[in-house]
Amino acid sequence: NVAVSTDTVGAKVASFLKAQGKLLIDGKFVDAQSGETFAVYDPATAKQIASVAAGDKADVDLAVRAARKAFDRGPWSKMSPAERARLIYRLGEAIDAHGDELALLETLDNGKPLRVARAVDVASSAEKLRYYSGWATKLSGKTVDVSLPGDWHAYTLREPVGVAGLIVPWNFPLMMAVNKMAPALAAGCTVILKPAEQTPLTAVKLAELVQEVGFPDGVINIITGFGETAGAAIVEHDGVDKVSFTGSTEVGKIILRAATGNLKRVTLELGGKSPVIIFPDANIDQAIDGASRGIFTNTGQVCAAGSRLYAHKNVFERIVEGIADRAEKLKVGPGTDPATEMGPVVSEEQFDRVVGFMRSGVQAGASVRVGGKPLEREGYFVQPTILTNTTADMSVRREEIFGPVLCAMSFDDDDLERIAAEANDTTYGLSAYVWTRDVGVAHKMARKLKAGFVRINGGALDNALPFGGYKQSGWGRENGSEGIETFTEVKSVVVGL
Ligand code: NAD
Repeated sequence: NVAVSTDTVGAKVASFLKAQGKLLIDGKFVDAQSGETFAVYDPATAKQIASVAAGDKADVDLAVRAARKAFDRGPWSKMSPAERARLIYRLGEAIDAHGDELALLETLDNGKPLRVARAVDVASSAEKLRYYSGWATKLSGKTVDVSLPGDWHAYTLREPVGVAGLIVPWNFPLMMAVNKMAPALAAGCTVILKPAEQTPLTAVKLAELVQEVGFPDGVINIITGFGETAGAAIVEHDGVDKVSFTGSTEVGKIILRAATGNLKRVTLELGGKSPVIIFPDANIDQAIDGASRGIFTNTGQVCAAGSRLYAHKNVFERIVEGIADRAEKLKVGPGTDPATEMGPVVSEEQFDRVVGFMRSGVQAGASVRVGGKPLEREGYFVQPTILTNTTADMSVRREEIFGPVLCAMSFDDDDLERIAAEANDTTYGLSAYVWTRDVGVAHKMARKLKAGFVRINGGALDNALPFGGYKQSGWGRENGSEGIETFTEVKSVVVGL
């Protein structure tokens, strides 16, 4: 009952969906030890499209053993960096070669427009692997001049941290998995990946590509399953040396507590409530375009979504009008429809959450400028929404909605300190956006904003630019050299001559 086209890609995907998804443990496709499976739904129809193995503690245990063996005794740790680099690069090429299938799977599973899944999710996953494959041969320690009395040769070694557990969310399922897998493998770690239970399909497909490319057994293990069971088992396992997690701040805190058993290393990429600040001298058309994309892309299910707009009072009306106009024209529909610009939210739970926030905002006194309602049709569709007249204490202003809901505020101030203070009035600190033509204002704001990534007049993520959060938006950084170093330990060696 899956509405996929009958062309080759559609036929391949239809047959993939019919086969029950397996776990990848120690180079073999297996069912969960318990024999349990769980259903996967298309958010555009709310109908089941597949079922996959429900991995649990026993499966995680086997995966950790396999990953430990591949790490402790080889072959991964015995392979040269150049050999590892070639395999990582080839996985990127395999993703590109199977890009149309992966994109369709992502669209059916997550809801996003197929065009976006292909051009963004799939393409950047392949590129991420190519980017980090290059790092495998460039990681190294350094020699250090020490001041000890006598004659010494001192240096550092940069070693892989070991077995890494990678736990990812549902908003960019393949991309988030690869975001972690690429640097972990390039650093020399072996991995256990757990995709989100809402969107496991591209991870199951990725497992096939891992085998096709020829990674040694146990280097990459993929366990589909739930957070409280499979996810928790990874975090609690003493055989895991590091957990890299992307998801909600709430679960991030649970993970931190659960990781204390063996004090495993933890990296957290968490939520956000990012401000968009538009000064009156900005290129207003570009700012409207940027702010609209910043909140409606991926149906607002973006950790770095610009969800709090602060526009100078002289341009506020024009900007809100411009974003509202975009919202009204945005074609909302199933991701498989080529005309669709915004898909559904990912699940019933997420639908209830977003609609709940829209209602609570209105009840608390906010005005709906545009949208504000679910769509009366099958699937989990909501309207792109702008709320005005919000106050700083409202939950729509304070909490991460993770939906296409923008709170728009004006400021009547030239004091950058006060503007920054308002933008920083959040427990989060992932991203911030500034629109101005004044270089002084731009750079001053960049320094004052408490966020891991400040974009001035547009811009996007880049593999070479570290990404991560201040405050409760996370611990550590992904991308660039920082992103690979978090999968390493530094060892100092001093030698008496
Ligand atoms: P979530 O925290 O509910 O789940 C994320 C992952 O954690 C899933 O794989 C889930 O199964 C697993 N999990 C849940 N409970 C667990 C537990 N007790 N132990 C171990 N694993 C557990 O988040 P979500 O709803 O899937 O994703 C949305 C959130 O992710 C948003 O808050 C968003 O801001 C955040 N996010 C952050 C970034 C970033 O880079 N900072 C990127 C994407 C999403």
